[in-house]
Amino acid sequence: AERLTGRTALVTGSSRGMGRAAAIRLAQEGALVAVHYHQDEAAAREVVTTVEKDGGRAFAVRAELGVDGDVDQLFAVLEEDLRERTGSTDLHVLVNNAGVMGGVAADEVTPEQFDRIFAVNAKAPFFLIQRALRNMPDGGRIINISSGLTRFANPDEIAYAMSKGALEQLALHFAKALGPRGITINSVAPGITRNGNPVFDIPEAVEQMAGLSAFGRVGEPEDVADVVAFLATDEARWITGSFVDATGGTLLG
Ligand code: NDP
Repeated sequence: AERLTGRTALVTGSSRGMGRAAAIRLAQEGALVAVHYHQDEAAAREVVTTVEKDGGRAFAVRAELGVDGDVDQLFAVLEEDLRERTGSTDLHVLVNNAGVMGGVAADEVTPEQFDRIFAVNAKAPFFLIQRALRNMPDGGRIINISSGLTRFANPDEIAYAMSKGALEQLALHFAKALGPRGITINSVAPGITRNGNPVFDIPEAVEQMAGLSAFGRVGEPEDVADVVAFLATDEARWITGSFVDATGGTLLG
């Protein structure tokens, strides 16, 4: 049975990667999904078409995150689309998935790069939550996509890991505040997960990355999307403020 019928969801950065997979998965559960993207309109449209072919409902919303006015711009368009399709501006599920990697060694990262990483990965999710809470009915769901790198050392991604560490704080503190409304908020931490990065076309690199998981393979976007979808359902009502390890056992050491 569909577990999210009658619900609406916003998945940031769902034009590709695990955001795309989460959008498709939530739509399969019956949610009307806002497929947010920044640059790749064609990719976002492809996600909407895929959802619709599957009998689901979705629409694309464009907004650059990490710049002034980002959240207001996104919500102006989102509210209009929701009202048109549902007659209300209720948003039941927010998935903060959009993120940028660093890929810059600690001794080379510039203040500008650092600010950008924090603006997209930590600041934008905070203000998206702040804004979304005005539209979120009791029983709503907030899911933040962190990274196993908050618990797995990688000096080349220190600024990125710091931003995800900041993101994880959202679940702890908002969980307490939102409990009375029945709203849950959790962090999901993926390990290395296949996305459009060309590194996944290099068999030797994939083999090496696969070795980090207890299951001996890299993650597929659907591996993470299934966890996100579960947290969005009523069945996950008793889980809040949690760090959910979705690294395929990478953190076991
Ligand atoms: P991708 O890099 O494949 O896609 C990123 C998505 O975010 C795209 O939809 C992109 O939109 C959007 N986006 C990026 N920057 C912005 C911005 N400034 N404003 C608006 N949208 C933006 O994502 P992944 O699936 O690899 O990663 C998803 C999340 O998971 C991220 O938060 C990432 O940090 C995290 N993660 C990823 C891991 C991995 O191995 N892939 C491992 C651990 C965590 P568009 O293309 O339209 O511009």
